[in-house]
Amino acid sequence: MSKKSSVAIGVLGFQGDIEENVAAVKQAAKEMKASATVQLVRYPEEMEKMDGLILPGGESTVQSSLAAIQQSLPVLKKRIAEGMPVLGTCAGMIMLSRRAYDRVVGDTKQKMIGNLDIVVERNAFGRQNDSFEADLDIGIVGKGKFKGIFIRAPAVSEVGKDVEVIAKHGSKIVAVKQKNIIGTAFHPELADDARMHKYFLKMVLDYRKGKA
Ligand code: GLN
Repeated sequence: MSKKSSVAIGVLGFQGDIEENVAAVKQAAKEMKASATVQLVRYPEEMEKMDGLILPGGESTVQSSLAAIQQSLPVLKKRIAEGMPVLGTCAGMIMLSRRAYDRVVGDTKQKMIGNLDIVVERNAFGRQNDSFEADLDIGIVGKGKFKGIFIRAPAVSEVGKDVEVIAKHGSKIVAVKQKNIIGTAFHPELADDARMHKYFLKMVLDYRKGKA
């Protein structure tokens, strides 16, 4: 954990929409007038220093395999279990989950971080509808609709008892929160709306305060 006055947020830097998350954190910090640094992280020693971490959308199997090669999965698991706030969007939510499957191939047997007590169905919206936008109600970020951008998105098919459902699209669960962990099936970093990243930054600021 950083000892400086600003909070340190890492974005898992292997693959996916990394820069978009960096920009969204900067926008959130600006709107909140909060002091936050944001950097790419790949290695265990970098992850040890962060106050919060974002796992971006992209391709979950690629990201978790690369993280595993760098021996980063155990330290991610440990930091999240200790209470470090984490936001996983799309592929990031898949990596955080307890189990992932695909309707066609079944259990995808990919490497997981696993702290989030949910089961996800990958590519749950099918080929016909593999990318789309939908206006979502996400009470924790405020009243106005949030533009959900879904790209070959997963959906949550099972939630454990400590998991709060924070957004649905039709009958499908598309965002969840379990204590310090947020997972979204869509990409808030692409929405040009910093509210989810602001909510997350507030969690990080509170976490840091609790540790001070
Ligand atoms: N389908 C991708 C996966 O399973 C997730 C897509 C995304 O992050 N946009 O990793």
